[in-house]
Amino acid sequence: MRIAILDAHTSNPGDLSWGPVAALGELAVFEHTLPEQIVERSLDAELLLSNKTVLGCAEIEALPALRYIGLLSTGYNVVDLQAARARGIPVTNIPAYSTASVAQQVFALLLELTNQTRLHSDSVRAGDWARGRDFSYQLAPLTELAGKTMGIIGFGRIGQAVAGIARAFGMRVLAHDPAQQLEPLEIVLRQSDVLSLHCPLTPETQGLINRATLATMKPGAILINTSRGPVLNEADVAAALHSGQLGALAADVLSTEPPGEDNPLLTAPRCILTPHISWATKEARARLISIAADNIRAFLAGNPTNVVN
Ligand code: NAD
Repeated sequence: MRIAILDAHTSNPGDLSWGPVAALGELAVFEHTLPEQIVERSLDAELLLSNKTVLGCAEIEALPALRYIGLLSTGYNVVDLQAARARGIPVTNIPAYSTASVAQQVFALLLELTNQTRLHSDSVRAGDWARGRDFSYQLAPLTELAGKTMGIIGFGRIGQAVAGIARAFGMRVLAHDPAQQLEPLEIVLRQSDVLSLHCPLTPETQGLINRATLATMKPGAILINTSRGPVLNEADVAAALHSGQLGALAADVLSTEPPGEDNPLLTAPRCILTPHISWATKEARARLISIAADNIRAFLAGNPTNVVN
């Protein structure tokens, strides 16, 4: 069984083993694949694995040996699912492998904003404390989370994990999710001191945080986005940061990745950004590889699981 991985680098930059997948066939590992290299590299492969390499109708039709597409991600928008189905090719994804890691990243971002650890550490290491007069000094306002309201948009796996941690900090949790009887969106926007986004990117959620919705939020509220970049209207959020209406933004995702140099959030005040790393703890990536192998094993046994088409 010939297996090819088209973009192995992000899931495994070298600190993990592809052994669980290699045990199931003859494995070719490519770190990155350009669009024009996809067909040539995949021509022999019966099983193809991709994280973000786009497999459209043209690629799928150009690969007669192909029997299975395994995504190394939860999202499956990079594959033309219908074209695969028309050929009888199951496409599988990897649900839920990074829930705890994403919830942890929400608090890594939030605590950086409320406690300004990096700012103070940099100051101490630059000698400010050693030269100072007092046993303690603060360079920015510090904020206690206990008693504050955490608003969650999208109360699925990650949203619920975030709620559990927020409650452990003594926060009050309000959540909105159209699939569940929770709070109306307007109430969550209006009452939250911290608003954390955990909905998928859909036509309904694209641009959900925009000039109009920002205007209904508490002045000075903190916004955290680890869901998908386009859920924010970035120009509107940058304007709200410049005007001071929004207290701070922490985002792990942007509307295009990597972002254009003119992305307005790159230069907005009180804004911290990470390069889409919430999912990428070593533990979560190891789980990803292990589930990718389980998915292949189930397919080979004639019993495919996590099929999305
Ligand atoms: P999930 O499917 O368990 O939960 C998503 C929830 O959002 C569901 O309960 C759904 O009903 C709700 N929802 C759908 N439309 C909504 C709307 N219009 N308003 C409010 N809620 C809505 O998914 P999950 O595992 O919790 O992941 C949530 C999102 O996090 C994913 O869709 C993905 O975009 C993102 N994610 C990011 C990373 C990262 O590394 N940054 C990693 C994993 C997932």
